[in-house]
Amino acid sequence: MKCAVCARQAKGYGWFNPSLKRSDPGRYSDQWVFCSRRCQNAFSTLMNETEGQMIDPSEMETTAMGACLQPLGEFVGSIGMDRPLASYSRIEVLTLIDVVVTAYQCQMTAEHERMAARDRAFLQERLSLQKGRV
Ligand SMILES: [Zn+2]
Repeated sequence: MKCAVCARQAKGYGWFNPSLKRSDPGRYSDQWVFCSRRCQNAFSTLMNETEGQMIDPSEMETTAMGACLQPLGEFVGSIGMDRPLASYSRIEVLTLIDVVVTAYQCQMTAEHERMAARDRAFLQERLSLQKGRV
């Protein structure tokens, strides 16, 4: 299972929606698993602020991908910007992947925390915009 916030390997941290009755199937989801207390807290705060409604994560994913550009550029610059990918050693390719994945995961966690720190009025507005799109 992957962490619902940052997509790292989940490690036994879960969450349920305490505002719903025990019999309500929306109270639990096997998707709500986390790698760390930090991700669990960010998710839990965000869910409490929005009364259990999910903010569409796709916008956060786009932001997180954008956050990979600079570290990716720095790494490629450090090993030679003009080299074709086929000339990379296995270690260089693995390092490149690690640089991008780490930047993505860090940004996803930070983005959930930033969102969770926003006020409820802002989050409710986001949710209503999201519903308007469906
Ligand atoms: Zn996580």
